[in-house]
Amino acid sequence: MPVDMNVAQAFMEQVQEMGKMEVPSKLSDQERVETAKQVIRDGINAQLAIDLEACVHCGLCAEACHFYLASKDPKHTPIRKLDLMKRMYRRERSPARWLYRLFVKDVTIDDLNEWEELVYDSCTVCMRCSLICPMGINIGGGVAVMRAAMRTADLMPVEMRLVGQEQAEKGTIFGVGSEQFVQTLEELRKTGLKIPLDEPEADILVLSAVTDIVLFKDTLVSTIKIMNHIGAKWTFSSQGYESANFGYMTGDQEWQCAASKRVYDAAVACGAKTVIVAECGHSYPTLRWAGAELMGKPLPFEVLAPSEFLGREIQAGRLKVKPIGKQAKFTFHDPCKIGRIGGVVDAPRVVLDALGVDLTETEPHGVENLCCGGGGGNFLITRALPLRLKVFELKMKQFDDTGAEEVVTSCDSCMMNIMAGTMAHQWPKPTHSLMDLVGHHLA
Ligand code: SF4
Ligand code: SF4
Repeated sequence: MPVDMNVAQAFMEQVQEMGKMEVPSKLSDQERVETAKQVIRDGINAQLAIDLEACVHCGLCAEACHFYLASKDPKHTPIRKLDLMKRMYRRERSPARWLYRLFVKDVTIDDLNEWEELVYDSCTVCMRCSLICPMGINIGGGVAVMRAAMRTADLMPVEMRLVGQEQAEKGTIFGVGSEQFVQTLEELRKTGLKIPLDEPEADILVLSAVTDIVLFKDTLVSTIKIMNHIGAKWTFSSQGYESANFGYMTGDQEWQCAASKRVYDAAVACGAKTVIVAECGHSYPTLRWAGAELMGKPLPFEVLAPSEFLGREIQAGRLKVKPIGKQAKFTFHDPCKIGRIGGVVDAPRVVLDALGVDLTETEPHGVENLCCGGGGGNFLITRALPLRLKVFELKMKQFDDTGAEEVVTSCDSCMMNIMAGTMAHQWPKPTHSLMDLVGHHLA
């Protein structure tokens, strides 16, 4: 069911309050510059060095980036986000560094302050620019290194810093931790739902996300109903339940590792063969690919995005749904981290087909779909809202051009960003979670 807009509004106001907080850094400007430079230096591996030299200045990445398309400001050209890194590469690592040092400026605190906006507020690390670039330059990968550098230099939007720190130090996000998660399950049990928690043995470990507790409880309920419907031997874990990983989004590997380890340990403890992340875009690549790298060994379980899981279960005949019918037109918004980066494009369409909806695609869609502007933690950055709303105008036009009356997606960040755009533009079309749509139409 579409989310209660009053609850969404209250949540966004809470986030905006965070944006007003001041969190002074203990580092001097000089220390910030040195620490950021060290992270950038360490991050320039052989592939990135090749990428930094490979640009042919064709400008195609600009046309691929929703921030550039919305602002038409040259500073939002994707490859420009790697300029500082390129300057450092040229001065310190390039074969002609002795020459470059004569005319390429060293990185300063003013540069870092300017780049904070470029790598956080105006980049969702959606990878569309990298997909389009004829030289295959991994701009998103470079931005991730820049984010790591900014984070160590305490140059990060305050909202992301506070939430990242909270998750790393307390294991909670927006004040929601294990206790609140278990309490929520207790409340849901009172409605008659059977909810396995901390089962000693399970085939599937299902993760939740803070947004499911505070905003999208219907999606959590639908997830539970679907798991019970297919008759799986599944469980939640009170210790490893959270999909969101602010370490991944902020570029802090220590934070990232701590959050992934909690899930890894929970899955190993119950012997799960499959872990299903919540509808939380970044959590999919964080666990599926970065997880193994951080653990230093292959994961002993498969990681599935919710849409991937739903599509598989429908195709296997275990998940049976009632057709919604063709009375309303739908369109599907592919979340970047799941569609473009994860390659999960067909599965949600298998689900929508089984639901019998009248689906009209945006152009482009699938792996080339335009980002909504809220990923990579951007939905939290209050000062970036005006730019995000401009991006939403592009998305709104794409949605409207399909003639669809309702939007479906499979990512909480996309949901929140689309809802923020919906409220600001008084756009009347509801947005659904795919999981929730299925949960409400179980046969
Ligand atoms: S990764 Fe996405 S948001 Fe970032 S510069 Fe590239 S296209 Fe723009
Ligand atoms: S698309 Fe690639 S080659 Fe072209 S300007 Fe952008 S980064 Fe350079």
